[in-house]
Amino acid sequence: MIGIYGGTFDPVHFGHLRTALEVKELFTLDEVRLIPCSQPPHRETPLTPPEKRLAMLELAVQNQPGLVVDRRELDRVGYSYMIDTLKSLQNEDSGKSLLLIIGTDAFEGLDSWHQWQQLFDYAHILVITRPGHVLQELSCFLSSKLTDNREDLTLDKAGCLFFQSVTQLDISATAIRLLINSGQNPSYLLPDSIIKYINNNKLYIRRPN
Ligand code: ATP
Repeated sequence: MIGIYGGTFDPVHFGHLRTALEVKELFTLDEVRLIPCSQPPHRETPLTPPEKRLAMLELAVQNQPGLVVDRRELDRVGYSYMIDTLKSLQNEDSGKSLLLIIGTDAFEGLDSWHQWQQLFDYAHILVITRPGHVLQELSCFLSSKLTDNREDLTLDKAGCLFFQSVTQLDISATAIRLLINSGQNPSYLLPDSIIKYINNNKLYIRRPN
């Protein structure tokens, strides 16, 4: 089974990385693909160019086998819809099932994602807990997908909804951008190699968030 972890990653931080690693180990995944979006449908396109967000991801995982950066959303034109990403991953026909990893904040807006119900035709969805987010009541559709039995994820190739808590690191890319913008030191929130990249490329300095 392959984990799919999408986001803007502007920049990637230890909240993302620790989650990806814990989920990989908890579910014995072959790998977790970190997939930066090019043009997110639900928020403004990040000011940081996609290739730079991708470069930061590559720096972050370079010594971590099993965490893999996947650039397919950068190579597509138009909005980066997750349904298209899952379809293209399945077309690769690795025979492996897909586990779509999303935080509770993203999960709360799931029903506004393009063709969201069809996501379950291509993947299981794993919701990871994130500090400060209280879960809303599930709709009938989502309740019908819910399981608390991890084995269900291996019995079927797709279609289950599972909640998993991981070590909670209350870090957000927004907070990191703000820190840097105000001249503070972001150390210990993200890898040093990425801080160096941010400094070298003068990212997040003196611009609105
Ligand atoms: P921003 O502050 O710019 O919105 P972000 O830090 O929330 O960014 P994204 O790239 O938007 O990061 O998020 C990608 C995915 O990572 C989402 O599913 C989100 O829920 C999850 N995520 C973000 N921060 C954390 C964290 N600290 N711990 C666990 N998951 C996280």
